[in-house]
Amino acid sequence: MLKVTKFGGSSLADSRQFAKVRRIMETDASRRVIIVSAPGKRHAKDNKITDLLYLCKAHLRYDVEYESIFKLIKERFFSIREELGLRTDLEKEFTEIRSHLSKNVSADYLASRGEYLNARLMGEYLGYQFIDAKDVIFFHYDGTLNHEKTAARLREIYDVYEHIIIPGFYGSMPNGEIKVFSRGGSDITGAIVAAALDADIYENWTDVNGILLTDPRIVPEAKPIARVTYEELRELSYRGASVLHEDTIFPVRQKDIPLNIRNTNEPDNPGTMIRESFPEEASENGSRFVTGITGRKDYSIITISKSHLSDNLYTLRKVLELFDHYKLPIAQLPSGIDCFSVVTPTADWKDRGYELLAEIQKSTGARVRVEEDEISLISVVGRQMAYRKGVSGLIFSALGENDINIRIIEQSAGEINIMIGVATEDFEKAIRVLYSSFVK
Ligand code: ASP
Repeated sequence: MLKVTKFGGSSLADSRQFAKVRRIMETDASRRVIIVSAPGKRHAKDNKITDLLYLCKAHLRYDVEYESIFKLIKERFFSIREELGLRTDLEKEFTEIRSHLSKNVSADYLASRGEYLNARLMGEYLGYQFIDAKDVIFFHYDGTLNHEKTAARLREIYDVYEHIIIPGFYGSMPNGEIKVFSRGGSDITGAIVAAALDADIYENWTDVNGILLTDPRIVPEAKPIARVTYEELRELSYRGASVLHEDTIFPVRQKDIPLNIRNTNEPDNPGTMIRESFPEEASENGSRFVTGITGRKDYSIITISKSHLSDNLYTLRKVLELFDHYKLPIAQLPSGIDCFSVVTPTADWKDRGYELLAEIQKSTGARVRVEEDEISLISVVGRQMAYRKGVSGLIFSALGENDINIRIIEQSAGEINIMIGVATEDFEKAIRVLYSSFVK
């Protein structure tokens, strides 16, 4: 059994957090591979090391004094080392980094040093073999990951060492230069490593008890989701829930490796388990059938009307082509007999919608009505809603009883998602009403 673990920045922000991580690693012998982020914030007003590194680069570039920022970065690592009584030669590491500091230092190299140094320290603290990500995570020249070479190298390394630590967030280009993933990219490193080593589970340790059922800014008591499928997760993140980066999911999903979101500060909490499916559920009953409720504000409705529209698909096709041409996202497409509406994000519409509108009128002769910024879309997502009677009834009556009008209704054919559009002023209230109707 192998568990690949990844710890995020807040789980590694200081020596106290380091100690928690060590305890977590030691309580389970199958946790043998660890990927670390750079130190994150210790409190709300603190800085993330990665942000400071990027700031340092900006100062270098514009010839602005950078020593004070560099000092802050150094202090963070030195204090972790002192407080844990470690011996990692940070003096040498910082001399090396300093020797690269010039106007032209690569931003990727500098940004990657947060995870690099953190892995050095944590490696010593855990007694794990340090493996530099530049020697195991390989990119092609076009910036995409070289999957084959990366997986093969990781397997070779894992054959030799039983316990390894790898810094997240970066790898190397064919010429050896460091390249980083997008922000938050240590999650991706963890997933790549888990997939390459055919891990039994990929544990992603963070500072919350998993993915919440709904936005805690709207429902402060929102509970975590115990289990969610990848398909549901896509629906939830598409509609607004900020969960994991798409690139994180891909490598582990492909191999059907369960992804478990866990809380470093509450290690006994089982967190959220993400899988392709949960076959064990067939024999369970009474489990909650709504997995999550999410939504996004600020959509506009563009309604196109023309008589005999449904007999002639030209107008529909032309309008869709124009939306595609102008790269305006289509969130929903509710339709009637002689009209249909396109629901699109207001910001995109304001940016380039009026040019598109003129073209629609010119090429189709249809009437176009614009309701700007009127609508918010809410999705109720749940794999267990499929073929269950009365779910939409519950949604509609809950909203109706609370005096919330529904402007748009849609359900996907797979029935894992019911989407409704409400006036933006009702958005938060609608989410609260739905949460309290479905989550007991
Ligand atoms: N340290 C990097 C960032 O802040 C990568 C990560 O934490 O995943 O974006």
